[in-house]
Amino acid sequence: MASSPRPQLRPLTVIVTSLAILLTLGGLGYVVSGSIQFMATSADRMDDARALSAAKAALAALKKQLSATVRDNAYWDDAYESLENGGAKNWASENWGATTADYPLYDTALVVEPDGRSLVAFHKGVEFNDADVNSFFLGNLVDVIAAARRAGYAAETLPVAFVDTRDGIALIGAAAVQPSKHPAFDMNAAKVLVFAKLLSQSVVAEIAETYDIAGLTLSDDVGSESMLHADVLDIHNRDIARVTWPPAHPGSASYQQVRRTVVASGIILTALLAAVAICGAVFLRAILNSERAAQYEAKHDALTGLWNRAGCLERLDAALASNGGNHTTLHVLDLDGFKPVNDAWGHLVGDQLIKAVATRLLSNLPTTVTVARLGGDEFAVVDNTSALELGSSALSQSIIDTMATPFLIDGRIIEIGGSVGWACLDTKRQEGSELLRRADLALYRAKSLGRGIAVNYDPSLDEEAGRHSELEQELRRGLKANEISVVFQPLVEASTRRLSGVEALARWSSPIRGSVPPDVFIPVAEKAGLIDQLGLQVLRTALREGMRWHSIGIAVNVSPLQLRNPYFCRQVRDALAESGFDPARLTIEVTEGVFISNPGQAKRAFDGLRALGVKIALDDFGCGYASIGTLREFGFDSMKIDRSLVTGLSGDNNAGAVFQATVALANALSLPVTAEGIETEEQATAVRLSGCEKLQGYLFSKPVPASEITSRYFVSSSAQAS
Ligand code: C2E
Ligand code: CA
Ligand code: CA
Repeated sequence: MASSPRPQLRPLTVIVTSLAILLTLGGLGYVVSGSIQFMATSADRMDDARALSAAKAALAALKKQLSATVRDNAYWDDAYESLENGGAKNWASENWGATTADYPLYDTALVVEPDGRSLVAFHKGVEFNDADVNSFFLGNLVDVIAAARRAGYAAETLPVAFVDTRDGIALIGAAAVQPSKHPAFDMNAAKVLVFAKLLSQSVVAEIAETYDIAGLTLSDDVGSESMLHADVLDIHNRDIARVTWPPAHPGSASYQQVRRTVVASGIILTALLAAVAICGAVFLRAILNSERAAQYEAKHDALTGLWNRAGCLERLDAALASNGGNHTTLHVLDLDGFKPVNDAWGHLVGDQLIKAVATRLLSNLPTTVTVARLGGDEFAVVDNTSALELGSSALSQSIIDTMATPFLIDGRIIEIGGSVGWACLDTKRQEGSELLRRADLALYRAKSLGRGIAVNYDPSLDEEAGRHSELEQELRRGLKANEISVVFQPLVEASTRRLSGVEALARWSSPIRGSVPPDVFIPVAEKAGLIDQLGLQVLRTALREGMRWHSIGIAVNVSPLQLRNPYFCRQVRDALAESGFDPARLTIEVTEGVFISNPGQAKRAFDGLRALGVKIALDDFGCGYASIGTLREFGFDSMKIDRSLVTGLSGDNNAGAVFQATVALANALSLPVTAEGIETEEQATAVRLSGCEKLQGYLFSKPVPASEITSRYFVSSSAQAS
């Protein structure tokens, strides 16, 4: 159930990492697309500005060109001379009028007298009279002429401006015709030369081409909002028309060209973002799920789905915290007879049985309780509703009753039982683990008292447990300090009362407690796992001492737990080899506890011992449940009738009958019988007559040290012999 600790940071790490990646990629995408957009619009804006200044430059260049043309023609001595003398009209017509037909720099030429009348007027090679002139120019002609006079003699800057005409917008420029070097020249008496040039479609197209302004047109309205324009101004700086053109948007155009790539990149980036987001979400979910599963696993039993020990403790603590421990009781159930089921039918059946027990607990007990499996065949029931001792003991009993009906597993009817220990907390120590410890103590007591019992915790159990663990510590130390000794009790032939063997019995004389009886320290050694060591010490000592006593047998007691040790037979063999003791003279005494705890292992141990040539006796027969079947199956070499049966012999006829029947049973199985605990002659006679071959008891001898056996039975006889 141990689950490795999972770092709590991981989900946070995933969220932060995913967000960081998302923000970085998203930000990158935003910056890149923003930059491209910015580049496109600023390229558009730059081109718009370029086109505007180009348009203005084009108009200015037109004006400059016309200004230069007018000046070249008006600041001309020949012209002045010719106009002042006779034949002025002819001269002007030839030099300026005729050229209007196809001259690129002007298409209209006038020479205006100081009084305002035209000396000559030509438009596209055709002569105009004054009426024509007035109807052609829709305004400003007079102002332009006046401005030319105002400009003064040899002026650098001449009036050039746009003017509205019958045929459309034209550029007009004027200058007084004047000679060079004439300081007192009268501008008001001068003739004024006027050139004009219509801004025809072809002129506009030429400007468009020269200045790279696509779609340039001349119009008198403002045009649509999206069009760019430059104003066309008259002599008074009023706009009389404008040149308009659509913005070229080269940036947008370039952007349109790379748009596909940009869109594709955007899609890839979005897909990448989505992938990162999805991966992050999936990863996060997996982590959360596995964390949830780990949390569940850490608190639940995999086999039954019940809470496990950790989960149970958590529930207990929560219950205790919520109700102050006043209403919480914990019942711990241990199955009786589960192990033999497991051993006989295997773990699969054992597992099914555990599951069936869990199901039954859940369905038979009140729904208010919590059921947990603490491990193995141990369950716990937490009850938060009953504070009364009466209610709690009733629950304990119903837990035991729940186990009473046999279980049906794979067609097998399996009978088991249960022992329960229960505890409710006093208000001072509110901890689940303490409650569990107390219920465990009570369970331990319930099991030692027998099966199918419920025991409530009481403080004396703690004292007892304390004493027990103190004793265990002392025994551990005593074993190391060689405080365990061995005494020997003689066995005699029933007919002759001659010595036939001895039984080795362990003794512990503790410097603290004095002599501790084996009925006390053997169970402690068994529980503390010291019995193997203790048993081996007794066996070795017995065999070593026994080497001095030729021809008699030696019986050594072995605990059922020792038979579970897979190395037991090897240890016996080594002890025999070490001492040189004849295996045929050694008898191992076992009690019937071995059949109950683990028959299979016991049988294997018996076979191993028999292979060594060692005999096996059944001890304490008659006080337990051993059946004829098991006696046969295990093939004992002899049996010892329990002292309790012998004790009853004095006087009571019924006890005599029981004793006789028991010996008769052993005889029927051809087992030699030893009677132990013979204290009186009467008992000795009774058991001999019943058919016992060997006798043992205080009547003949108490257990005595080896030296006494030697001096009593061997030294004297050898002394007699010598
Ligand atoms: P047990 O195997 O039945 O040993 C016989 C017990 O009966 C001995 O008690 C012995 O002193 C006592 N006894 C013999 N004759 C009489 C009699 O006439 N009257 C009375 N009242 N008692 C008599 P002990 O030595 O106290 O041993 C008690 C039990 O401790 C033994 O019972 C045996 O089960 C266990 N034990 C002793 N030594 C060992 C050992 O080395 N290993 C194991 N596993 N168990 C041992
Ligand atoms: Ca014995
Ligand atoms: Ca006995």
